[in-house]
Amino acid sequence: MVAEVVTVTEKTEDFEVIVVGGGAAGLSAALVLGRARRRTLVVDAGEPRNAPAAHMQGYLSRDGMSPAEFLAVGREEIERYGVELVRDRAVDVTRDEGFAVRLAGGRTVRARQLVVATGLKDELPPVPGLAERFGRDVLHCPYCHGWEVRDQAFGVLASTATSVHQALMVSQWSKDVTLFLHTVAEAELTGEDLRRLAAAGVRVVPGEVAGLTVEDDRLTGVRLRGGRVYEREVVFVAPRAVPRTDLLARLGAEMSETPFGTYPVVDGRGLTTVPGLWAAGNASGFAEQVVNAASRGYRAGAAINGELLMADLDATAVR
Ligand SMILES: Cc1cc2nc3c(=O)[nH]c(=O)nc-3n(C[C@H](O)[C@H](O)[C@H](O)COP(=O)(O)OP(=O)(O)OC[C@H]3O[C@@H](n4cnc5c(N)ncnc54)[C@H](O)[C@@H]3O)c2cc1C
Repeated sequence: MVAEVVTVTEKTEDFEVIVVGGGAAGLSAALVLGRARRRTLVVDAGEPRNAPAAHMQGYLSRDGMSPAEFLAVGREEIERYGVELVRDRAVDVTRDEGFAVRLAGGRTVRARQLVVATGLKDELPPVPGLAERFGRDVLHCPYCHGWEVRDQAFGVLASTATSVHQALMVSQWSKDVTLFLHTVAEAELTGEDLRRLAAAGVRVVPGEVAGLTVEDDRLTGVRLRGGRVYEREVVFVAPRAVPRTDLLARLGAEMSETPFGTYPVVDGRGLTTVPGLWAAGNASGFAEQVVNAASRGYRAGAAINGELLMADLDATAVR
């Protein structure tokens, strides 16, 4: 159950709203709040999830823009409305009448409402060379990169039996797909898996992957532990998603386990089970792409403005 909104009306805070995280979700919340004339602070450590990628795809009207440029434009936009942005990291948070957020730089800031938009971290399997090429020719998401690498020779590095699903999905972008079972035993694949893989024309290669081969800074192959190299131009992999939810957990927000990590329980606006505490973007769900993260931030920002307004009107009315 998501708790009712309880809004603190005492005027002891430095800000009305603090947004932790200045990615698409956090900046979008801040834009709405700034335009609603709310004293808003964004605290951002400056490590957005898609930083390894040169291009951001699939955001209508921004398709192909660089992630860094997208965020730079967003920062300019929030500054127009008086939102303060600090490059710092929130390291602790407490809640009494409002929220007190301690920053790594030593400052403590307070607000009536808190948005956690801290994103998630992708943990890659420990195969040498993967991390260096992530976002270039080691990819996780066909919707982000599939078009750009269409018809190339794909490898899919299995990490669990669910990697079969990834191999089937990427076959929409190339008919040359090889699934490397790596740490997954052949016996783990079901009859349905095998039928679908065959129907999609995906080759299945058992055996542990030892590394990648690279020439002139381009991926050229996947090397098995026995030494055999399979020529491939692109490798898809499913990183383990580690949501950055420690601030939410410290405040006692109810969490829910999913196959893609543990996320806060939120209502349709992003309110957690802790009054005044909101979550948006990848800190609230695995599947949020940039456009969804921005949308979730917008929705939380608008909801917060409404809650603050009604709380203040109610406080005035009873006086
Ligand atoms: C390689 C790659 C390519 C991708 N390509 C695409 C694409 O083409 N199109 C697409 O739609 N999606 C793409 N994505 C997904 C995209 O990255 C996410 O959808 C998006 O970043 C989610 O936005 P967010 O605001 O929730 O989190 P983020 O963008 O990750 O922003 C979170 C921010 O919070 C900050 N932060 C975290 N903890 C703290 C703290 N304690 N204090 C202060 N700040 C903190 C971080 O430093 C970061 O700046 C890609 C992902 C990857 C990994």
